[in-house]
Amino acid sequence: MLRSSFCGLCDDCQLGNPAFLDTVSRLQEYLSRFRTNWWLHCFPGEEGFSFQELRKALEWFQTHSECPGCKEGRGHEDCPIRRCAMDRGLDQCYQCPDLKPCNKFDFLLTEFPDLKARLRRRQLKDKAREFHRRLETKGTEK
Ligand code: SF4
Ligand code: SF4
Repeated sequence: MLRSSFCGLCDDCQLGNPAFLDTVSRLQEYLSRFRTNWWLHCFPGEEGFSFQELRKALEWFQTHSECPGCKEGRGHEDCPIRRCAMDRGLDQCYQCPDLKPCNKFDFLLTEFPDLKARLRRRQLKDKAREFHRRLETKGTEK
């Protein structure tokens, strides 16, 4: 499924990837076949983890594979990036002249430190393409 977002996060999102879901299914099967919940009682206290939460997480992957992406209404309800890009009528932030100094990405930087840099690279590529296109047009006008 192709998803898209204003910040670029959804564009290569692998949620629902069939190979990943297949691995999750196999893990779920192993967890029950090997009775892995028994293992936990050998490591009580800080070394353990919530088996119930692990099962819940695996179930979550299976049941949340149909996210349509941020442009179709998912993602942060009050996302400042989405609001700003929509107000400016932009398809994605790489088209924005204020991308470089923009601080609306700050809340994403810990989890996705290279997100803005990727948009900047795309912006620069786009500029270079446009520059060459103009040069070619000038060349054919002579
Ligand atoms: S809701 Fe905001 S942070 Fe989430 S994908 Fe969309 S633009 Fe990016
Ligand atoms: S200022 Fe530009 S780069 Fe920053 S969120 Fe708004 S549209 Fe995106």
